[in-house]
Amino acid sequence: MIEKIVSLSKRRGFVFQSSEIYGGLNGCWDYGPLGVELLKNIKEEWWKAMTYREDVEGLDASILMHPKVWEASGHIANFTDPMIDCKQCNARFRLDTLGDAISEKKKKKIIRAFEENLSEENKNKVDKIYKIHSELDERFEAILENKELSLKLLGEANCPNCGTKGEFTEPRNFNLMFKTFVGPVESDDNIVYLRPETAQGIFVNFMNVQNSSRQKLPFGIAQIGKAFRNEINTKNFLFRTREFEQMEMQYFVKPTDDKKHYDEWKERRISWYKALGISGEKLRFHDHPSDKLAHYAKEATDVEYEFPFGWGEIEGIHNRTDFDLSKHQEYSTKSQQYFDDEIKEKYIPYIIETSAGASRSFMAFLINAYNEEEVNGEERVVMKFHPKLAPIKVAIFPLVNKDGMPEIAREIESELRPYMKVFYDSKGAVGRRYRRQDEAGTPYCITIDNQTLEDRTVTIRERDTMEQQRVQIDELLQLLINRLK
Ligand code: ATP
Repeated sequence: MIEKIVSLSKRRGFVFQSSEIYGGLNGCWDYGPLGVELLKNIKEEWWKAMTYREDVEGLDASILMHPKVWEASGHIANFTDPMIDCKQCNARFRLDTLGDAISEKKKKKIIRAFEENLSEENKNKVDKIYKIHSELDERFEAILENKELSLKLLGEANCPNCGTKGEFTEPRNFNLMFKTFVGPVESDDNIVYLRPETAQGIFVNFMNVQNSSRQKLPFGIAQIGKAFRNEINTKNFLFRTREFEQMEMQYFVKPTDDKKHYDEWKERRISWYKALGISGEKLRFHDHPSDKLAHYAKEATDVEYEFPFGWGEIEGIHNRTDFDLSKHQEYSTKSQQYFDDEIKEKYIPYIIETSAGASRSFMAFLINAYNEEEVNGEERVVMKFHPKLAPIKVAIFPLVNKDGMPEIAREIESELRPYMKVFYDSKGAVGRRYRRQDEAGTPYCITIDNQTLEDRTVTIRERDTMEQQRVQIDELLQLLINRLK
């Protein structure tokens, strides 16, 4: 399934490998003519849903920020993944996700061998883990999380790349931030980081936005922008990349109201995906158990989508408490307190964060739209995007390239173009032209035929039902605007 999507993405211009003619750059992708429209539409729908509200303001902070920001946020100390290398083939793995690369059968074998050589003390530790976790995958992961046990388990594990047994290095922490330098001197004093999340740009502008917009709590700040993470393993197409885009909104609330707002944003965010065509069965919340919460979070959940390779996070919703603003107050020595004039008190607000990946949800929308159908004995591939997300909204076909049909088709094209993305196609059999638009996910195709010459009506064909309706040319624009709403 993923292979089919990757191939369609390249063939039709949704997504290309970055720097493909040089063999590609791992973990980076380029959005082609159709992809850039789809991505833009996703971001636009998010922006409208999140900021066309009384209580949310927009922001566009710079990617490079003062290095102290990342000290205060904890990223320099904590934004690390444990990694191991295979000494034989040098393949590198994230320790915490090593289990994903090992089959169930092999995992069972490794665990059996591991259990055989345990000291009494370690046996007790393992028993404790088994009491909490009953599933094989969870047990494997939990053993890897324990420093001493993980070394023993790794001693029995084969490298998923070359198969060599027990030849892993000890786990080392690897910081995921990309480093670079400002100015001409490459010294430690000039280090800056490519932001690994857009959120910090919002936190450090809390006071600026609040003072300039005169917002009162609760209110939010929203931002869309690039983020960079030097992921140890990139995988699954757009799911885990080194450069990606985030759509984040930080909602500042009175500390005692945190739960209410957290629950409200959870519901709003999952509804957003549903309203754009993702079925409820393909979406779920994965609440983080309290022992797995990030250092800044009081409560956290992931909105997950069922990808062909399993459930995967597309958005995180977190109660970040007053952690971020308190840290920035401490490190910058600038007050981040809010004066609540209802109760005449100052306090640091709590933050409810909704953090979505634009590129990851792009992939979810792409997969969700993909359909193969049989029509009159032939296969039809159709991308059933929600009309709001579809890269091209309408295609215009003169049935033949003569008899005045192209002129009328061009007339319609110039009337529609200022309002929507239009595609003009006069080449090949009309059936083939429909199929090409089905693959691009274009919701409507207009055909100018012989009858048009007599009564100025055209056919408008709907992508999913393939039904055609005759309408007056004069009514087209309004009809399309209504349907694309
Ligand atoms: P993961 O556990 O998958 O690495 P995370 O929990 O670190 O993700 P967050 O820091 O909560 O992710 O980031 C918020 C959102 O940003 C994620 O839900 C995801 O959509 C997106 N995102 C994070 N890392 C990547 C990446 N490497 N590539 C693409 N999107 C990403």
